[in-house]
Amino acid sequence: MIDLNEIQTIEHDVLVVGAGGAGLRAAIETSNLGLNTGVITKSLLGKAHTVMAEGGMAAAMGNVDSRDNWKVHFRDTMRGGKFLNVWEMAAVHAQDAPGRVRELEDWGAVFDRTRTGLINQRNFGGHRYPRLAHVGDRTGLELIRTLQDHGIHQGMDVHSECIGVDLLKDGGKISGMLAYWRDTGRFVVFRAPVVIFATGGAGKAWRVTSNSWEYTGDGYGMATRAGAELMDMEFTQFHPTGMVWPPSVRGILVTEGVRGEGGILTNSDGVRFMFDNIPERFAPETADTKEEGQRWLDGDREARRPPELLTRDVVARAIMREVKSGRGSEHGGAYLDISHRDSDFVKRKLPSMYHQFKELAEVDITAQPMEVGPTLHYYMGGIRVNAHSQMTNVPGLFAAGECSAGLHGANRLGGNSLSDLIVFGARAGIGAKEYLDNLSGSPTVQQEQVHQHMRGVTDFLNREDGENPYVVVDDLQKIMELNVGIVREGEELEKGIEELQKLKERVKKVKAHPTSQYNPGWNTCIDLRNMITSAEATALCALQREESRGAHTRLDFEGEREEGLTYNGVVHLTESGELKVRKEMRKDAPEDLQKIAHSTLEELEGNRV
Ligand code: FAD
Repeated sequence: MIDLNEIQTIEHDVLVVGAGGAGLRAAIETSNLGLNTGVITKSLLGKAHTVMAEGGMAAAMGNVDSRDNWKVHFRDTMRGGKFLNVWEMAAVHAQDAPGRVRELEDWGAVFDRTRTGLINQRNFGGHRYPRLAHVGDRTGLELIRTLQDHGIHQGMDVHSECIGVDLLKDGGKISGMLAYWRDTGRFVVFRAPVVIFATGGAGKAWRVTSNSWEYTGDGYGMATRAGAELMDMEFTQFHPTGMVWPPSVRGILVTEGVRGEGGILTNSDGVRFMFDNIPERFAPETADTKEEGQRWLDGDREARRPPELLTRDVVARAIMREVKSGRGSEHGGAYLDISHRDSDFVKRKLPSMYHQFKELAEVDITAQPMEVGPTLHYYMGGIRVNAHSQMTNVPGLFAAGECSAGLHGANRLGGNSLSDLIVFGARAGIGAKEYLDNLSGSPTVQQEQVHQHMRGVTDFLNREDGENPYVVVDDLQKIMELNVGIVREGEELEKGIEELQKLKERVKKVKAHPTSQYNPGWNTCIDLRNMITSAEATALCALQREESRGAHTRLDFEGEREEGLTYNGVVHLTESGELKVRKEMRKDAPEDLQKIAHSTLEELEGNRV
């Protein structure tokens, strides 16, 4: 047995796992509060998933339409989430977001401007008013650049290409984490009484996804193995507009900003089909004629919004319906056209989209329509946290950003993720400080636990025979696509869960070439444990929820059921290693927030509630 002294050890007050928006914002907060903070990331600083965010971050600043305020933002978020959101989180998010955006500006973020010099805000699906602060279609890049510059000057330590394997605990409390360096494969033990997860989602469990290679659900896997719970995992968002052609780029995101700037969706007959897909509930502000929608695009804020800007679940299902009815585009999607707008306007407002299509698909979007279709994009569910502190049920373990649950309910509005990161990243940092101030004793790292976790991943290198991990990943993606896709059914879900059980056994037996240095095969073996947990938790929650709500559509249970609003699906890992799902009854909604969510716009605009 290797002595603990022989393994590299690094000590911090707080270890943040993930260098995306949530992780960096949390690290800035803890550093500011005087805590020695380390950040680890699977890739390099500045390369997290957040960097890919295009459209913008939602905050009711009212710069473009002064009628906007936090109450309208809160109401939009609750309606988008089909009222399954954690009420307090949705309220805090809407209240804190404007201040957090201005703070970014103070730290050097260069946002697009209105004519009068204020931060400009654009329209996005489900948001009543232009609300997304943005930097062209490269908002995530500017967010990360600002946070990393600011963070480094606050004194946080960044450990790049360092991958968390498992959490360490002492008497139930967090004492640190085992990790390894991606280049050498050597292990490193972090001693830290607080770990903040900001590890993002698990989109890589599906074949067609907008997510990058880092999204293998590591936070979900590590958290459940340490005794934390997952919540609402059935709510996986399929973004309606991913690229569909050529095959090598299938799934890459086409920002909602295209529709926000006036892009329209048509089928192979040239029909603008979204007019036939306006749901009766929650969409009274949506235009039902082209003229009305056009007036809104032309800047008439009294007009109603075009139906292309309905929430993502509605638009994604509508595109699928066109494809299934034989009215899809040439390569199995729909057409998204913004060529009716001035060519310079398109290039200025959507520069990345212009280049993306030009270089990857040889399509000039200023003159030709794009082909788009649904792509797995975002996990609304995730690690269950306390709404005020972001701490999980494991003392010392916190979570923020996409890997945590609660804010978005059954469906996320575009732009509400970037604001989620800066609002709840900061709150996790504050929660961590409060926890440390009240912590009695100092949890220590147990040698046997470190060895057990090391064995769990070195077995992949040491066995004589075993399966290729890439084949197992491929099979996992097939199972998810076929059985836990955009439209679900009980029998398929049961079959999927059965298949995942078999796959779990195969995951235990995968094998990598026996060297830990620069070994992506071994890295994939380790990722697979987390991907399969994320996938199974998603399927279990999806089977339990016998209704269609937000991003979760059941063909055998159409429409929302009253019972669906009474609980959250909660998943935990039993001592025997089985994932179990249960219905956790929700608390009564606070009366003041209920009143706001159910008020009319006129009441909210006049601040009469
Ligand atoms: P990330 O930014 O993904 O960071 C996760 C971090 O965790 C990474 O650093 C990763 O390396 C690290 N990590 C993971 N596992 C481990 C491990 N085991 N050990 C160490 N490190 C680990 N949202 C909006 O609000 N507006 C938009 O316009 C928008 N556009 C988008 C466009 C695209 C193409 C995509 C894919 C998403 C978009 N989103 C948008 C969603 C939003 O970008 C993400 O939800 C958000 O960036 C997630 O941030 P995060 O900090 O939670 O995680």
